[in-house]
Amino acid sequence: MLKLPNLTAAEPIPDAAQAEVDRILRTGDLFRYGSDQSPVALLEAEFAQALGTKFALAVSSCSAALFLSLKSLGLPREAKVLIPAFTFAAVPSAVVHADCIPMLCECGDDYRIDLTDFETKLPNCSAVIISHMRGHTSDMDAIMGLCDAAGVPVIEDAAHSLGTTWAGRNIGTIGAIGCFSFQSYKMLNAGEGGIMITDDEDLIAQAIIMSGAYEHNWQKHPVLHTAFANWQNKLPLYNLRLNTLSAALIRPQLEALPGRVEAGRRNHDHVAATLADCPWISVPASLPSEKRAPDSIQFNLINMSDEQVDEFVSQAASLGLKIQIFGRSDDNARAFWNWKFLSSNPDQPKTRAMLNRACDVRLPARLTLQDCNAVSQAILNAVNTTMRRNSEDLNTGYS
Ligand SMILES: *Cc1c(COP(=O)(O)O)cnc(C)c1O
Repeated sequence: MLKLPNLTAAEPIPDAAQAEVDRILRTGDLFRYGSDQSPVALLEAEFAQALGTKFALAVSSCSAALFLSLKSLGLPREAKVLIPAFTFAAVPSAVVHADCIPMLCECGDDYRIDLTDFETKLPNCSAVIISHMRGHTSDMDAIMGLCDAAGVPVIEDAAHSLGTTWAGRNIGTIGAIGCFSFQSYKMLNAGEGGIMITDDEDLIAQAIIMSGAYEHNWQKHPVLHTAFANWQNKLPLYNLRLNTLSAALIRPQLEALPGRVEAGRRNHDHVAATLADCPWISVPASLPSEKRAPDSIQFNLINMSDEQVDEFVSQAASLGLKIQIFGRSDDNARAFWNWKFLSSNPDQPKTRAMLNRACDVRLPARLTLQDCNAVSQAILNAVNTTMRRNSEDLNTGYS
């Protein structure tokens, strides 16, 4: 029996957070605007500096960051926002929440935006959200070229790709706004939380006010105060602030990020290499400009029927490895046909085909190479058992 590591547990919180959490609990200073040197403000400064961007606003989730980004762009009601058909349900939800209409763009076998479909649909859209799903980065040179020429702002949903770079630039700094998540299964774990970054003073000023910097609390943000004066009392307050405890949990993890990125990449590349020769598995290559920070691996099953795909999942489960195929469960939040809250949701056949074959396996940074070997072995055993059984069934006439 293979000894598989625990793939579902989140990253533990560094001990360094403990003293600060104790201090906050003793003072009761949980509200971000309660003191001048709030851990939330420190997190924003440190995050902006780490990413190389001017401004950061920490909020209650990446969904909140996406929503505030759309609101800050001042899009009119019912404006169309182009989003990938392969993304998490939070993305079309943020668009709906901002009174806009999501337009879905096809994604290819490599999990990235289909540029032909993107170019066709862009002219009808007022904004674009690009989700770098599981860190897979779409061709940002092509996307920014098309969007800049059309004058359409780009929001990067980098919820799950902190640490990835594109042509040496940090992901999230390429579009007008970048959004990240601190939910437990992302690179930095605070249970819940998010942050948005931008170099645009007017966008961040609006987002800060709408996030709940009521009255003159915006004075506690290091942004030119003329930007705020324009917006005082003119914007609704959605109260999507982050509390100080969450910031205290994240700050020491920021230091651990480079190590997590390196370990995640090592684990991913190791497992990808062991799957490379399997005739029923294809691991899409990264784009030349992209350096991912993976905490999971995605691969496609090829030359297999739907029945064989489902058999593979149950074989893996019997070995103790839970593999998710995005499109082959009833309730997956990343399968666009499950977004039944959309008033219009036309089929996206390319994305549908990919989702029905794309497997998702977590590979947390804390795994050893030995752990990774056990995961690879379980995947290969499951696929070999499935396909051997199927060829025997054919030979003997059983079904
Ligand atoms: C997790 C995730 C989100 C949502 O993040 P929350 O912080 O849970 O709101 C959005 N987009 C992608 C691609 C994600 O992975």
